Amino acid sequence: MINKQRIIDRFISYITIDTQSDPHSTTTPSTDKQWVLAQKLASELKEMGMTEVSIDDHAYVMATLPANVPHKVPVIGFISHFDTSPDFNATNIKPQIIENYDGNDIILNKEKNIILSSEYFDDLKQYKGQTIITTDGTSLLSADDKAGITEIMTAMKYLLDNPEIPHGKIRVGFTPDEEIGRGAHKFDVEKFGAEWAYTMDGSQIGELEFENFNAAKAIVKVNGKGVHPGYAKDKMVNSQYIAVDFINSLPRLETPEHTEGRQGFFHLSDMKGDVEETVLEYIIRDHDLGHFEARKEMIQDLASEICSQYENDCISVEIIDQYFNMKEKIEPVMHIIEIAENAMKAVNVEPILKPIRGGTDGAQLSYMGLPCPNIFAGGHNFHGKYEYVPVESMQKATEVIVKIAELTSENYK
Ligand SMILES: [Zn+2]
Repeated sequence: MINKQRIIDRFISYITIDTQSDPHSTTTPSTDKQWVLAQKLASELKEMGMTEVSIDDHAYVMATLPANVPHKVPVIGFISHFDTSPDFNATNIKPQIIENYDGNDIILNKEKNIILSSEYFDDLKQYKGQTIITTDGTSLLSADDKAGITEIMTAMKYLLDNPEIPHGKIRVGFTPDEEIGRGAHKFDVEKFGAEWAYTMDGSQIGELEFENFNAAKAIVKVNGKGVHPGYAKDKMVNSQYIAVDFINSLPRLETPEHTEGRQGFFHLSDMKGDVEETVLEYIIRDHDLGHFEARKEMIQDLASEICSQYENDCISVEIIDQYFNMKEKIEPVMHIIEIAENAMKAVNVEPILKPIRGGTDGAQLSYMGLPCPNIFAGGHNFHGKYEYVPVESMQKATEVIVKIAELTSENYK
């Protein structure tokens, strides 16, 4: 069995190190403080007996658990990120441990009257009787993704301590800067050398994700003609009115606030304008590649249609692809999902397969040649003061890692 207190101790030793990333930085890692945890992880990996422990110039940590079976097993990997979100205070994290949770509201901070409500956050109720780790209301918890790191480290230690459990070669990878979208950018897939991997970066217990959005950004520039308003008749072209026409001609209900599940959307994320020029920034999201391409075309077509009503090319559109649905890369290797599902069932966790309405590092890695679905790490309410994680979910995630290692070896016997 995975020892509960050891999970808590390890988790707290990681979350009390500030590793917040910074989107305005151009270096990797984006903040120097991320080195502190990277180095700690590398030395802990060496200490527990992992081999090929490396930490590169950009703080990516990798290590190997050598195979303990004679037959050939594909090399698999487990990955999580050690940076935390720049969206909320991440310094001076003071966790609270609530044992035998009673299912009611949790007072995070009495002085500031900050309460984790079990009515509002009703996911909490399923953890009645468990041990919940919360914040003190002044910071995030950084279970995203130090829960994932804790689980991978604990699973490796467990496999080293229990050599009777058969497994092939396992690689682990810890990355900086996931929260600013760059976790996969400098990940050396060749050096990692795994046939497939799993990011331990999902939320609630049971989550298993291999579908995410196809994503693009569109910058729509509308050009007008500024003339003195008193002499503007038949001369002025107000870019802001053309921009409004453009906005209104996109389907009004295909927006984030009106869609869910696998429904895609256009999201007007920013607009700035005056008579001369209006710039609209959209993000385009769709799980279906065909629909995604059609959305991009629709933006182009609308621009030319609206422009045809004016004299010249009054609208220019720039579309930049951001990331793609990993489903395209996972479907040809569905056995890697089956192994994860079977591992969950073997440790009494009901798999929840659902599409992610966002992206993951695993999506980028999948397109870099390392198929990489995402597994729950157990936390909830990421990136804010209501973040919490049940210790039992971390235990289960650790057991899932151990089981995946075992089942992969068994499957190739
Ligand atoms: Zn994360």
